[in-house]
Amino acid sequence: MKIVTTPNHLRQTLGEQREQRIALVPTMGCLHEGHLSLIRQARSVADIVVVSIYVNPLQFGPGEDLDRYPRPFERDAALCEREGVDLLFHPPTLYPADGAAITLTLRAGALADSLCGAARPGHFDGVLTVVNILFNLVQPDLAMFGEKDWQQLTVIRRMVRDLNMAIEIVAAPTVREADGLAMSSRNTYLNAAEREQALTLSRALRRMAARAEGGEDCCDRLIAAGASIFADARLTPEYLEIRHAETLAPLERIDNQPARAFVACRIGATRLIDNCPLKE
Ligand code: AMP
Repeated sequence: MKIVTTPNHLRQTLGEQREQRIALVPTMGCLHEGHLSLIRQARSVADIVVVSIYVNPLQFGPGEDLDRYPRPFERDAALCEREGVDLLFHPPTLYPADGAAITLTLRAGALADSLCGAARPGHFDGVLTVVNILFNLVQPDLAMFGEKDWQQLTVIRRMVRDLNMAIEIVAAPTVREADGLAMSSRNTYLNAAEREQALTLSRALRRMAARAEGGEDCCDRLIAAGASIFADARLTPEYLEIRHAETLAPLERIDNQPARAFVACRIGATRLIDNCPLKE
């Protein structure tokens, strides 16, 4: 595995291999089984697997966890090596620092108005901007993203479509701990009591999915079923909603449409998100 830290070195290294099928797995590091599942999926379909590890300041808002975001690079690099990654891209920054810099910021548009976009203004603009930079540098045939961040996956698919990028976006299912908690680098912030409370998100989603499976079609009633799990845990979700899986439009009834339940909740100082399909 080669580790490169500059765009020039990345281009040089990939230059000789451009004829092969290249898959990119963009991450912010602190890798867990969720990331590794993306890497394995990439490994199974591509000749060259590129993983990027970059904690992107543009997608963090004021007061968020940019400074304390975990950065265990040696461990991450060892995991990538073990998974057969060909190239690990770990730049110190991706944005020019001098005042005369020319920059291009992408706007995520209406898909980012709700859910996490409403709570984190500018977050998805920051995500698209860095993903666009990575796509330009790596020029992958495929790029892998997790369903754990469904709204992110949706805006990235839309970017590829609207900006006519010749990149296949591959989605990977959410990897969970044995008790249902969606894996996340931010789970490392949780103490034992918070770790227990964090189960509320997946419990609420599971109950909503079970009710939908059982024939409940009214989204208000499904949301009420999930909300009661939060009330029992004495927690208030930041949002708990049911949306059309592709357009993210709010739904009154499922009516055989592709629907997903979405939740975000602060557990102590840690903001966690999760989502799941309803009536697949
Ligand atoms: P992050 O490092 O949090 O920016 O995530 C990098 C990629 O891993 C994104 O495409 C995420 O959606 C994906 N990812 C994060 N957690 C999980 C998980 N539990 N299961 C599957 N994919 C995940």
